[in-house]
Amino acid sequence: MSELYQGIKFDVQFVENQAFNDDRLTELKKWCNIFHQKNLAPSYPNGSFGNLSFRVKPLENQFLITGTQIGLKENLADDSFVLVHHVNFESKKVFVSGNRKPSSESMLHFALYNARKDVNAIFHGHSPDILENSEQLHLPQTKDEKPYGTIELVESALEIVENHKFFVLKNHGFFSLAENMENCGNETLRILELCREINF
Ligand SMILES: [Zn+2]
Repeated sequence: MSELYQGIKFDVQFVENQAFNDDRLTELKKWCNIFHQKNLAPSYPNGSFGNLSFRVKPLENQFLITGTQIGLKENLADDSFVLVHHVNFESKKVFVSGNRKPSSESMLHFALYNARKDVNAIFHGHSPDILENSEQLHLPQTKDEKPYGTIELVESALEIVENHKFFVLKNHGFFSLAENMENCGNETLRILELCREINF
């Protein structure tokens, strides 16, 4: 990814800053650690990391997501995560509950949940293996590179997500979407394994 990380590109509105309780956080933390162990979301200079989320209630757009600049690792604390209630794209405001600001790609997660009601988990990483092998694997890819965290990036992903649940943002990273976290993570690991086979 060519652009240096400069922080989030939207306004955060804290609806409440109390902690939330959700048993599914344990599973989300497990996948954060797997992403870390498999180098699916490496840090880079001045860096950001991957962002993983799940939909809180079927068909509604609220989701729990990793906070901004949370380095993925083992045993993340509960307050590493933020509940996103709503995004206003016109004013670029993101409404949240939690103790920190949400991932810089929160607008994109929101737009994808809104576009795909069949999807309940979205994982995003910057695996060099997957980026380098995306053409050989015929992975769907956005047409042009767009800056991270922008409406332009959201629009480029929306062109693809209607027909695909695993795709690459050009020169940036991958997105995996699925009906649950298990399938979302396992599909990512399957694609990663295909990359290893190509390079074996
Ligand atoms: Zn990214």
